[in-house]
Amino acid sequence: VSQSRYIILLGIQGAGKSTQGNLLSSELKIPYLSTGHIFRQIAKEKTKLGRTVKELINSGNLVPDQITVQIVNEYLVRPEYKNGFILDGFPRTITQVEKCEFKIDKVVYLDLDPKEALWRIVMRHEERNDNTVQAVQHRVDLFYKHTQPVIDYFQKKGVLAKVDAKLDVKKVADEILKSIGKQLIKKHVRSWHQKSPIIVPIYRDWE
Ligand code: AMP
Repeated sequence: VSQSRYIILLGIQGAGKSTQGNLLSSELKIPYLSTGHIFRQIAKEKTKLGRTVKELINSGNLVPDQITVQIVNEYLVRPEYKNGFILDGFPRTITQVEKCEFKIDKVVYLDLDPKEALWRIVMRHEERNDNTVQAVQHRVDLFYKHTQPVIDYFQKKGVLAKVDAKLDVKKVADEILKSIGKQLIKKHVRSWHQKSPIIVPIYRDWE
C-alpha cells in the first residue's frame, strides 16, 4: 500500500508548521525541510543574493518566485527526498504552484486565527530579526493575498487537509495523521487503475 509521502505544510507564522513538521517527520520517517529555514541560511551569506534575501525576510516580504522556485526545485531532486518529504512553506503563491517540478500528494493547511498566532509568536521569544509587529502583520496579509489562492487550488484538486491548529500539539498531530490515512485508502484504490511516475510536474494539471 502506498501512502502520502510528498507532503506540504502551509499556514501563517505561529500555526505550528515546524513543530508538526518535525513530529510528522519522526513518525513517518520522512525528511522535513522548510523554505524559511533555507532562506534564513542564505540570508547569512555575504553575497548579493544573501543581502537581498536578508532584506526581504526582515521586512516580511516574500522572496521572488523565480528565485524561490529555482532553489526549491534544486533542493527536492536530492536523493534524500526521493522517497518523500515534508516541505514547510512552499508553494506560497500560484506562480510557485505552476513552476513546481515535483509531485505533491497531500497539502496540510494548519488553520489558525491571526490573533492567536500573534500571541503565540510573542510568547515564543524567538531570536528572529523578522519578528517586528510590522513584519509579522505584513506576512499575515501576504498569506491571505497570495497563499489563500494556493490553498483553494489544492482544495479543488482534492488533496487538501485543513486542520484546526488551535488544538493542542498532540491533537493536531493526530488530525494530520488521520488526514494522511484517508489519502492512503484512496491511493490504494486508485493504484489498481494507474501507476503514477515519481515526478509529475503539477503545473500540467493546472493548465
Ligand atoms: P517562514 O519561516 O516560512 O515564515 O519563512 C521566512 C521567510 O522566508 C518568509 O517571510 C519569506 O521572506 C521567505 N520565504 C519562505 N518561504 C517562501 C516562499 N515559498 N516564497 C517566498 N518567500 C519565502
